[in-house]
Amino acid sequence: MNPSQHPTLPAAVDVVVIGGGIVGVTAARYLAKDGHSVALVEKGRIAAEQSSRNWGWIRKQGRDARELPLMIESARLWEGLAAETGEEIGFGAKSTTYLAQTEKELATRAAWLDEARDYQLDTRILSPAETDALLGRDDRRFAGALHTPSDMTAEPTLAVPAFARRAAAEGVTIVEGCAARGVETAGGRLSGVVTERGTIACTAAILGGGAWSRTFLENLGVYIPQLAVRSQAARTTPGPLIHPGGIGATGASLRRRLDGGYTLGRTNASTFQIVPAAFRHFFTFVPTLYHRWGMAKIRVGRDFFGPLGHARWENDEVTPMEKVRILDPEPDHALLADMLKSAKEIHPALAGVEIAESWGGMIDVTPDEIPIIDEAPGTPGLWIATGLSGHGFGIGPGVGRLAASLVEGRTPVVDPAPFRLSRFAEAAA
Ligand SMILES: Cc1cc2nc3c(=O)[nH]c(=O)nc-3n(C[C@H](O)[C@H](O)[C@H](O)COP(=O)(O)OP(=O)(O)OC[C@H]3O[C@@H](n4cnc5c(N)ncnc54)[C@H](O)[C@@H]3O)c2cc1C
Repeated sequence: MNPSQHPTLPAAVDVVVIGGGIVGVTAARYLAKDGHSVALVEKGRIAAEQSSRNWGWIRKQGRDARELPLMIESARLWEGLAAETGEEIGFGAKSTTYLAQTEKELATRAAWLDEARDYQLDTRILSPAETDALLGRDDRRFAGALHTPSDMTAEPTLAVPAFARRAAAEGVTIVEGCAARGVETAGGRLSGVVTERGTIACTAAILGGGAWSRTFLENLGVYIPQLAVRSQAARTTPGPLIHPGGIGATGASLRRRLDGGYTLGRTNASTFQIVPAAFRHFFTFVPTLYHRWGMAKIRVGRDFFGPLGHARWENDEVTPMEKVRILDPEPDHALLADMLKSAKEIHPALAGVEIAESWGGMIDVTPDEIPIIDEAPGTPGLWIATGLSGHGFGIGPGVGRLAASLVEGRTPVVDPAPFRLSRFAEAAA
């Protein structure tokens, strides 16, 4: 997108969408398709944060069962969105495979099949011979694998910008380089969104602010349990084709890219940034931290008072979202080097590839690692669609569609109950 495409803000629209990641862009698109006037404001560039920095896996496999109905819908939406762009975004049903190096690991991976039983997915366990056949090798290195042929992948750097171009062509006013600072209310309801470039009157707004959603809402006196976890990924130089889909394994996970290289990452390798909100929400997060203790290094650093830390502002003041247009955390280079080493051990065919580029990303995590899609308490008309917890590229269009339906008062395609904000207070009580 070109920030100068829409230099003037509309004075009034039906709905303002805050945030140009996959959630905001798809929500805006569905609202426009349903006949509403929509403005999307993005403080930096479309998809410049998580939505372009992820691994590009669009998977049902391994998901929390509460998310599965929405993910199944999201997979259906992905097909439509990808086809409608008319652009090459690397999209396809290329499958997800989790390799198991031991029988114990295979049993752990296979246990998820019980959770997913009600959804009649095409996920199945591959034998050692089938796993070798899938990877084009014959060394019987693996005890087996969990495999979902219908799972998809896409190129994150291409997909959401393409969706945004399509949304703009269909009438969504997209304003990049424009942070939302706050909201205005009238008669107890949302009546406008205040941005750094002026106010847009509206009757509803959707906040799809990713890692910034908590900061934005706290300034309005709305508290959501959402913290940021730093993760990283890398792109390799081109290498031989092992498999076109997403291949997960302990130590290194990879996805074949359009450019012939691999996007490389490691699950359970993130850094949990301690910010003031971490204390407010600490006990809500204890189970996550407990179960993921091996995953998250806990770090108190200069980020404690950084942009995602505590902040308060008035609507006529410069906000943290204007001071940091694009969150671009430094990746952990030692970890990335270790990931590459693991990838080469697991897949000897990759002996010749090297890291060509690496990047960090701030993931917005909720205590139960499923999204919050709900109206903000105390501000009717302001809807929250955030907390996709590190697997939102796949489910993002579903979240966008669900948020749009709730704003419109339509019967949603899946039950929104699992995504209520009040679930955390209920669980604590
Ligand atoms: C390294 C990494 C690997 C991942 N791998 C996968 C994967 O393989 N599969 C998967 O499904 N998911 C994956 N994810 C997670 C996925 O990328 C995210 O869950 C998803 O992109 C979140 O989308 P979003 O729209 O909610 O947020 P974002 O993409 O972060 O977008 C939020 C946008 O809102 C903007 N914004 C915030 N506040 C304001 C404001 N006040 N005014 C204006 N604009 C604002 C921000 O600038 C940002 O552009 C990964 C994430 C990372 C970091």
